[in-house]
Amino acid sequence: MKTRNGYRYVPFITLSLSEPKPRIWLTLSGCNFKCRGCFSIARDSVGEPMTVDGLINWVEKSRWAYTNSTLLEEAIITGGEPTLDRDFLLDLVLNLKTCMEVKHITLSTNGYLLDMDCVMKLKDAGLDEVKLDIKAYNESIHQWYTGMSNRPVRKAVRNLFESELDFRVETVLMPGIVDAEEIERIASFLAQIDPGIKYKVVKFAPGEAREKVTRRPSDEKIELAVNSASKYLLNVAGGKACVQQFASPESREEDMKKWIRVYPDMKTETIIAKPSGFKVS
Ligand code: SF4
Repeated sequence: MKTRNGYRYVPFITLSLSEPKPRIWLTLSGCNFKCRGCFSIARDSVGEPMTVDGLINWVEKSRWAYTNSTLLEEAIITGGEPTLDRDFLLDLVLNLKTCMEVKHITLSTNGYLLDMDCVMKLKDAGLDEVKLDIKAYNESIHQWYTGMSNRPVRKAVRNLFESELDFRVETVLMPGIVDAEEIERIASFLAQIDPGIKYKVVKFAPGEAREKVTRRPSDEKIELAVNSASKYLLNVAGGKACVQQFASPESREEDMKKWIRVYPDMKTETIIAKPSGFKVS
């Protein structure tokens, strides 16, 4: 599913061009979930096999080529699922922190493999923050949507809280599948651990999904879900998922942010995005 020993397949890396201090997304492909509405091409083992050294060299080369900055402000390790190869991930975090002096490193994960040992080792290696997705609280919805149990994911939230590593939780609102009631159950579960846990409800984007399992929720539905979660949690937001993933050809150029996607052969693609999407030029 994922890699050869010591390698991860990497389809591209993505640098932000709109900010004075650049951020980078490292996309590691392969995933242990099979989310029906997944919008990431990196769910499959796509791209080139890379060692950590190879990936760090690629990041360095791309930073010099496409940004004016000597340092990266933030690195977001995403996928696919970055925790599939724990040793690779630990080594990557350590190298980003110590060799490249990245100020803030975020791990975006489905949480399934985040046991306490993994969390503590990531923290020791220099990880600053985790963004964990809870796809659904109801076990049968979670099994249907991802093909996996959510028990390890719920345990991961407790592990993160006990580790005192900074983290936030996100759920995609999917009308008829994960509605406000399900969001309320997730919020109630999180509040039992700590009402201060940061929680965000994001919109399902059918245009990008592998299976059009449902429609895009309205702003009113997002507001309802945020209000439901806010009965339990102090810090709830609603909005879009990571914008550099989506398309919005109708957006006005001057309002938009820009990213550059760099492929293993150093070919590039410019991504211009606004709230609901991106266009590729
Ligand atoms: S966990 Fe993320 S990458 Fe994996 S299948 Fe689900 S949405 Fe896709």
